[in-house]
Amino acid sequence: MRAEIIAIGNELTSGARLDTNSQWLSLELAELGIRVQYHTTIDDDLPALVAEMRSAVNRSDLVLITGGLGPTLDDLTRQAMAELAQVPLVLDVEQLAIIESMFSRRNRPMAERNRIQAMFPEGSEPISNPRGTAPGIWQQVGRKGQPEPCVLAAMPGVPSEMKRMFREEIRPRLPGGETVIRRARINCFGIGESDAEARLGELTARGREPEIGITVHEATITLRINAHGPTEEACQAQIEQARREIHERMGTLVFSEEDDELQHVVIRQLAAAGLTLATAECGTGGLLAERLTDVENYEAAYRGGLVLTRDGAGWELLGIPSEQREAAGNEVAAGAMARGCREKFGTDFALAVTERPAYDVEQESGQVPALYLALAGENLLTVREQVLVGDAAIARSRAAKGVLDLLRRHLQQQDEQKTG
Ligand code: ATP
Ligand code: MG
Repeated sequence: MRAEIIAIGNELTSGARLDTNSQWLSLELAELGIRVQYHTTIDDDLPALVAEMRSAVNRSDLVLITGGLGPTLDDLTRQAMAELAQVPLVLDVEQLAIIESMFSRRNRPMAERNRIQAMFPEGSEPISNPRGTAPGIWQQVGRKGQPEPCVLAAMPGVPSEMKRMFREEIRPRLPGGETVIRRARINCFGIGESDAEARLGELTARGREPEIGITVHEATITLRINAHGPTEEACQAQIEQARREIHERMGTLVFSEEDDELQHVVIRQLAAAGLTLATAECGTGGLLAERLTDVENYEAAYRGGLVLTRDGAGWELLGIPSEQREAAGNEVAAGAMARGCREKFGTDFALAVTERPAYDVEQESGQVPALYLALAGENLLTVREQVLVGDAAIARSRAAKGVLDLLRRHLQQQDEQKTG
């Protein structure tokens, strides 16, 4: 079955509002195994609407329409559907009574123009809408040379009304019991996209079942598994198989699934082992602390952090001698920050990030802008350089992830040594 979605409204084509209905409906249809081949956004214009609906009917078996069902002159969906099928709009007395009672329950008179909402293209069926005044429209339109008619289902534009109508009224009428779709996401860190693709090899090839796609966001690589099958169990078995293969190939680069970020993983690891953490940052504006404090129950492991500026008093608080402070953005400073922070906060571990900004580099030739990441623990100091290329905000976000990943891997290694 081929489907498409038409979103109607001036607000959408003018840019005043983004069409989120089509995105939501596509995801819903995917759950039913129905592929969506077109999204169209279109102005409130009758000839254009009719022409668009005609094209849709000729190339798709199901056309979902949102918007333009209201009582005002610019709401033209029902007129367009009538013209498409070359039938008149006829009054549905039952729907009129429902709309009238909706107004009387709210003690408001029904305006004459609301009558139009009880008018339907002849031969179509109203779809009830308890949340608003506009019922939806279910219409079948025959096609030349094709035995099956095309189904059009028009819903209100208001997202909450549309969603209810789709879930309660439209979805049960659609075929799709046959195919189940299940998804999973596996997150990796510490490798570039092309290296990840090389490692994954044919796993990400097109047309494979389950399908595995790669997306990258600020250095986090997400592998998206889409499984199609006759049952939930069949999909879960496919996902499990893909998960095993991904773990085999990516090893410790895999850090989590679904929405879990590095900070969630690190807090969990620390809390499980009864260990504590503090942070010190210069140049990142507290990004690392912000991420850590965003985790539920972060206080089980996170003891706090310092946000330093290059000339501020934070360096003294950390007990860093002035000759190391002068550099601010180098390996030595990063290491001193992590060590000093661990000591002052009395934690098991400390993480530090410091930046050598671009304006510094202009003065000292041969240098590149960079961020320095450090992890300090008992008899442990690891420092990494991350060259700052491209957008500074993205580089800082990557640095915050990179330093969390140092700790994640350290804790994982320790855990493995203990257990095996
Ligand atoms: P109404 O009776 O409210 O006029 P309607 O079916 O005519 O219902 P529209 O007038 O097209 O719907 O849209 C009503 C509101 O719903 C819009 O102002 C907009 O806020 C929202 N809306 C419409 N279409 C979309 C869409 N595709 N995505 C997100 N929001 C939408
Ligand atoms: Mg409207």
